[in-house]
Amino acid sequence: MTALDKLKFNNSFARLPEEFFSLVDPQPLENAHLASLNEDVVKLLELEGIDFSDPAQLAAFSAQELLPDMQPIAQCYAGHQFGQFVPRLGDGRAIMLGELETKNNGKWDLQIKGSGPTPYSRGSDGRAVLRSTIREYLCGEAMHHLGIPSSRALCIIGSDEEIYREQIEPGAMLLRVAPSHVRFGSFEYFYHSNHHDHIKTLADHVIESHYPEFMNADDHYVKLLAEVIQRTARMLAGWQTVGFSHGVMNTDNMSILGLTIDYGPYGFMEAYDPTYVCNHSDHQGRYAFNQQPSIGLFNLSCLAQSLLPLFHDDGQQAANLARAELECYQPAYVEEYSQLMRSKLGFATQRDEDQGIMQELLELMAADKVDYTILFRKLSRFSTIEEQYNAPLRDMFIQREVFDSWAVKYTRRLKHEPATDTQRATAMNKVNPKYILRNYMAEAAIRKAEDEKDYSEIDRLLELLRKPFDEQPENEQYAGLPPDWAQSISVSCSS
Ligand code: AMP
Ligand code: MG
Repeated sequence: MTALDKLKFNNSFARLPEEFFSLVDPQPLENAHLASLNEDVVKLLELEGIDFSDPAQLAAFSAQELLPDMQPIAQCYAGHQFGQFVPRLGDGRAIMLGELETKNNGKWDLQIKGSGPTPYSRGSDGRAVLRSTIREYLCGEAMHHLGIPSSRALCIIGSDEEIYREQIEPGAMLLRVAPSHVRFGSFEYFYHSNHHDHIKTLADHVIESHYPEFMNADDHYVKLLAEVIQRTARMLAGWQTVGFSHGVMNTDNMSILGLTIDYGPYGFMEAYDPTYVCNHSDHQGRYAFNQQPSIGLFNLSCLAQSLLPLFHDDGQQAANLARAELECYQPAYVEEYSQLMRSKLGFATQRDEDQGIMQELLELMAADKVDYTILFRKLSRFSTIEEQYNAPLRDMFIQREVFDSWAVKYTRRLKHEPATDTQRATAMNKVNPKYILRNYMAEAAIRKAEDEKDYSEIDRLLELLRKPFDEQPENEQYAGLPPDWAQSISVSCSS
């Protein structure tokens, strides 16, 4: 018996009614080969016994020769895309191979992205380009290690296949993993098509698989909504505090588990600009950085609406229950965001002036276009004793006197903290990453992979992003400002 034969799949989603998914047949790519393997996820999925460099074993993960227990399906869902409701979307190019059961680490949806058309492809090719695959692979890992819940990926499969986008690009596949890929849009699909019995079936499935603690509660559907609200609020607070912009916060890209999913034209903030729009196709700026928390609420309202039939037979009462839960979103977000920002500033205690100090700093950073990540990392070395030690920080600003007056208030505030400057620096370095995934870094890995089939930079970045808070002297070049050529990089929905 080989390690592959020992894998256990329990495909619970595929046992749901037929309206929930379509059976599909993933299509391999020409000359499929392993481009990058994520050893962390190999361990997580307990796949250490598999030799991914052996084409015969890789075949099971690259849609060439599926394992007998895999049951490939495309999930059906709807979604609000840029505010407009689209009644039927579904996995147009992601196919769930099966739900892999591990001994110690739970159950994982194994999804292959870019494996050809499904009934939900709407005329598109069902493929993914190498470029977007690398971006999703790296960012899932970056987010996970920043402490922000995210889907992750096992590997990238490269190929010789040519994919037609604005130009011809190499095709690839991504083996994505998450405990579930159910989205807000999965519920919207059944609500808006008037399949209220299926909303219940889906909610029961989600609760049983992922929120078993609610199973015996009377109001378990309301509890489900409440929990998704809390998780989404925390996820958004995480995004905002690391300067992450998702780019396409459509409800079909919002996870019922509060995970960051469906990485497209995302971006990490460099020069601080609250109105930053990372997606060049988002002309209205609907998903601008500073809009994300309120879009989170909009999306949750769409989810809540789809759950109304489960809350109460009386529509008015159901709506009241949903409204009461939705009202918890903003306080939950503010609480988590403030807490995270206080730690970024080195405040272990809470004081009235904290909000003002943070706001003033952010405003100054925006006015002077200061790099968000570098600034916060440098801030950990702020001295409350020797003003001259703060010169490197001060030099990041154009308006030095404005910084000086902020620094006076900051020093005064820090005097109320029990920690010494050194202790505070240690604590701050655990929350202010030194390394984030800047667009140019992903771009450099993409160019190497596309031009030379050299995937080494992907692996190097993966390694780097595993320890975003550590000093990594050998990787110092990734901690600085982006190079000039980075300004010409543009990311859109095309992937
Ligand atoms: P996204 O914005 O990437 O989350 O995609 C939105 C919808 O379009 C989803 O239903 C995708 O499955 C579908 N889609 C995106 N690109 C493709 C493609 N190349 N082929 C088929 N479906 C696609
Ligand atoms: Mg999507």
